[in-house]
Amino acid sequence: MHAISTPVARATSRASAASCSTRRDRAARLAPRASRADATARADGDDDDAHATKRAESSSSSSSTPMRRRRLINLTAATTAMVVASPALAAASEFADAGAMAILNRQGAIAMSDDEWRAKLDPFAYQVLRREATERPFSSPLYNEKRAGTFVCAGCGSELFDMSTKYDSGTGWPSFYAPISADAVTEVPDYSIMFLPRTEVRCAKCQGHLGHVFNDGPRETTGLRYCMNGVSLAFEPAA
Ligand SMILES: [Zn+2]
Repeated sequence: MHAISTPVARATSRASAASCSTRRDRAARLAPRASRADATARADGDDDDAHATKRAESSSSSSSTPMRRRRLINLTAATTAMVVASPALAAASEFADAGAMAILNRQGAIAMSDDEWRAKLDPFAYQVLRREATERPFSSPLYNEKRAGTFVCAGCGSELFDMSTKYDSGTGWPSFYAPISADAVTEVPDYSIMFLPRTEVRCAKCQGHLGHVFNDGPRETTGLRYCMNGVSLAFEPAA
């Protein structure tokens, strides 16, 4: 367990933690050196490979944590915006390929119908995992979980995060600086808030919504903050 926090973030987190997005917005104001270029890149719908490379270079001398290459599903802003507006409309698009459409329709290797998911999950877990709802900050028991172990997907049981990468972000949502492996999660551009492009994080296997990833994580690690809904996760303590 890495208990990493910053006094500024902790002092102001409750007031500004109404959503993951507000914290990022505030972080952008507090840390201008890291924010504007990233915001521009995301607004353009670009992957942040350049930034990831920059981070890898700048942190390689100070950290023994191996950098995991992040994979972001590249979809055009137009396609994504259209899907946000109307999945049915997007399904009819002749421009979207089958793979992208499967991702956009939340169909992974584990592909269940909406009715099947509704029957399998608790009502609120369904709303978050399948409908992108966000839990209230500080509401998840997993926020304070500190035992060694593994966080798995509450939808399909796939391993997603290890306790060793969990840290105290002060946001009220379980936060990690890296997934358990690069292919454990899928990262998708999210334009559901038009003035604040974000990157959604999903379980790669079932495409369930987990949360978002931001660039204000611990600098001594990856610099990333995987801001997760606790209800999307289940914790399996180490034996
Ligand atoms: Zn899953």
